[in-house]
Amino acid sequence: MMRLLVLSAPSGAGKTTIARRLIQRHPSWRFSVSATTRQQRPNEVHGKDYFFLGREEFQQRIASGELIEWEEIFGNLYGTLRSQIARQLQEAEGDARVIFDVDVKGALSIRAAFPDEALLVFIAPPSLEELERRLRNRQTESAQVQQTRINRARMEMEMQGQFDAVVVNDIVERAVQQIEVLLQ
Ligand code: 5GP
Repeated sequence: MMRLLVLSAPSGAGKTTIARRLIQRHPSWRFSVSATTRQQRPNEVHGKDYFFLGREEFQQRIASGELIEWEEIFGNLYGTLRSQIARQLQEAEGDARVIFDVDVKGALSIRAAFPDEALLVFIAPPSLEELERRLRNRQTESAQVQQTRINRARMEMEMQGQFDAVVVNDIVERAVQQIEVLLQ
């Protein structure tokens, strides 16, 4: 049974909103909380959005085999904790699902670890042009940072063919419903 729903998308495609919406609509579904070395943002809660770890602690956890997969993204480490999957599946009831919000490479690693249980869904922006426009309009970032994000978005878009399904996020409610159908 497909109990692990793995969502990936280029940044700015709205995947976090979709993940939150799915959990609101299905009380027994859980979110896999990743570990990261990136700085905590003001609205984020430790243990809910991420486990925020120092680089040294993160590396120790890699060494002791606690991470199913990990990637370095924009200079920070991100990874899925083995303990999260077991715990979240246990806490949830019969129709349990665990939702992952990971990058494209992380998604392929989760599939390799759980080939019979993982459903990989790529959330695509309505168009790459629109996504690039949005990323370029972020006033807070330097042109160099913007270009790095755009290059990564292109790489991620190129990998969508390896996913089980592609859902275009033009209207959030519609994207959410399409994902629910895939899991039935
Ligand atoms: P952000 O810093 O914006 O929260 O996330 C940056 C990127 O890291 C996103 O593409 C997100 O999906 C990805 N990410 C978050 N957690 C994990 C994880 O555990 N593993 C991998 N491979 N990527 C992750």
